[in-house]
Amino acid sequence: MTKTVVITGAGSGIGRHIAIVLAQRGWQIVVADINEDGARATAADLDSRNGQLHEHAILDVSDPHKARQVADDVASRLGLDAWVSNAGVSYMQRFLDTPIESYDKTLEVNLKGVFVCGQAAARAMVRIGAKGAIVNTASMAGKQGRVPYLADYVASKFGVVGLTQAMAFELAEYGITVNSVCPGYVVTPMQEREMTWEAQLRGITPDKVRQLYINDTPLRKLEQPDDVANVVAFLLSDDARFITGEAVAVNGGAYMD
Ligand code: ADP
Repeated sequence: MTKTVVITGAGSGIGRHIAIVLAQRGWQIVVADINEDGARATAADLDSRNGQLHEHAILDVSDPHKARQVADDVASRLGLDAWVSNAGVSYMQRFLDTPIESYDKTLEVNLKGVFVCGQAAARAMVRIGAKGAIVNTASMAGKQGRVPYLADYVASKFGVVGLTQAMAFELAEYGITVNSVCPGYVVTPMQEREMTWEAQLRGITPDKVRQLYINDTPLRKLEQPDDVANVVAFLLSDDARFITGEAVAVNGGAYMD
């Protein structure tokens, strides 16, 4: 039986690669993103790769009504075996200059979105009796605050790591596992934006920032989205069925607990 997964923020970056890797492993994908063009493009990309038909849904992860609609609809039509809460935003700026609106937006998408979608997904899984798996994209910034110019992002990602544990604890009785992944310096559009912002804030070139990221990574290269996607695929696989509440570091050693 084909398994079905909803992946939020799959219209770009890490989420798109999670979708590609899972599709290659036979999963049916529902690409969920607030950006319709991105979602459509990922779904079309998946279809052209393995001929299987994938779907997309327009979803603002902080909207409980819409999240519930997507989860219930997918659960009823296709079954809901897994949900990956990966949508995120970041606005790199000094703590002293961060407007409260920016803090609110970051927390709304990165943390409330994980709560809202996790609840919608888990309710739907319980309703159809699926012993599913949920994976949340956290960050190494969810384990350490020693990250420049990302205070609101750090707050949101620490929240994701804690929320993942709380969800895992309560959902265990339904056979649902919940884990997070903690990427480091991943090559994505988000990171391209961050490198430009960080270069401006530090008064150095984006190339120099890139080098700083590499120097900060013991494996001495920037992380590829597939490095994260492969670990997400493992956490959704049967091989990982006894792992829950874990925050898996996937960052080339940039942060070690
Ligand atoms: P990353 O490096 O985390 O992959 P990207 O910026 O490349 O970062 O991708 C983040 C994705 O999350 C984008 O496709 C974006 O449209 C999506 N996204 C941002 N905010 C929301 C939201 N509120 N609801 C759903 N998706 C969102």
